[in-house]
Amino acid sequence: MLLITGGAGFIGSNFILDWLAHHDEPVTNLDALTYAGNLENLSDLRGDVRHRFIHGSVADAEAVADAFDRARPRAVIHFAAESHVDRSISGPKIFIETNVLGTATMLDAAKRYWESLPPSEKSEFRFINISTDEVYGFLTPDASPAVETTPFDPSSPYSASKAAADQLGRAYARTYGLPVITVRSTNNYGPRQYCEKLTPSVIQKALAREPIPIYGSGRQIRDWIHVSDFCRALERILERGAPGEIYNVGAENELANIDYVRRICGILDELAPHPEGSYADLIRHVADRPGHDVRYGLNPEKLRRTLGWKPKIHFYTGIRDTVDWYLDGLKKVI
Ligand code: NAD
Repeated sequence: MLLITGGAGFIGSNFILDWLAHHDEPVTNLDALTYAGNLENLSDLRGDVRHRFIHGSVADAEAVADAFDRARPRAVIHFAAESHVDRSISGPKIFIETNVLGTATMLDAAKRYWESLPPSEKSEFRFINISTDEVYGFLTPDASPAVETTPFDPSSPYSASKAAADQLGRAYARTYGLPVITVRSTNNYGPRQYCEKLTPSVIQKALAREPIPIYGSGRQIRDWIHVSDFCRALERILERGAPGEIYNVGAENELANIDYVRRICGILDELAPHPEGSYADLIRHVADRPGHDVRYGLNPEKLRRTLGWKPKIHFYTGIRDTVDWYLDGLKKVI
């Protein structure tokens, strides 16, 4: 049994669906169903006894202890988080509660559970702590992509809270020997993402013929990975990753935000052409986000070299399928 936190969100739901498509090992999904969590993401699993849902918060020690008791997991994948940078700027407190205290609560319960296991199960147990490229702070345009030993320099309350959560996991590995593996990922794109995030929000605004806002110049660079490739990396790390290690997961697919948004508009022009002209005409530059990092980029060489993982989905195919998926969903709503 796997214990997944945040499995009703974007990456967590994609992970659970992918996992159960290829394995019979059941999952227990602990999720607080915040505005970002949606059980509809898992509607394909209705009636599937391999998915067991527990409604509760990772910051609630009782709910977490109960989840460990009920799941008796061989591994935890801790996705649950407040994840939207803009929200962290207008209201940082919940980010500290969920990302820092929630991760501390999860680690503490995992430690107690792990200590109670017989030696054979104890050595197999894993706690995969999901972190982000944002903990490294921004890269200058000509800097090499971050490696696992690049120092932290977070810019937003979101990335600072994730940095704390990431380091707590590292501390539990070093201090108590808890088999924590830290995974730092770049920007994911793909189906089932909450509508406020860049990819779905551009598609929604474009189809509604509303202005598509772009922060500042739009020259900020992000490395985009398809969520399925990230889920495959997690499976590989779960299977073969070494306790105490850190793995960067990136696709070496760096794009300026403006180019990413133009690409989406170009696909929409093909799939849902509008008589008034290209969707890219709706792009409007707006005041930049405070503390907006100019570039993130990860070097995924360690994962490639030690675990033989590399992304499979070409960006042009992945983003086209993603746009198509959201278009399909919007047609159903209309
Ligand atoms: P998301 O916002 O789509 O989903 C978060 C999920 O966590 C939701 O289902 C929500 O209900 C749940 N949740 C929130 N607070 C909770 C709490 N207190 N207890 C239990 N559940 C709670 O996020 P996502 O994009 O799927 O990101 C998942 C993880 O991956 C996060 O840790 C995020 O920091 C990390 N990450 C995401 C990206 C990305 O591009 N999306 C990139 C790097 C790292």
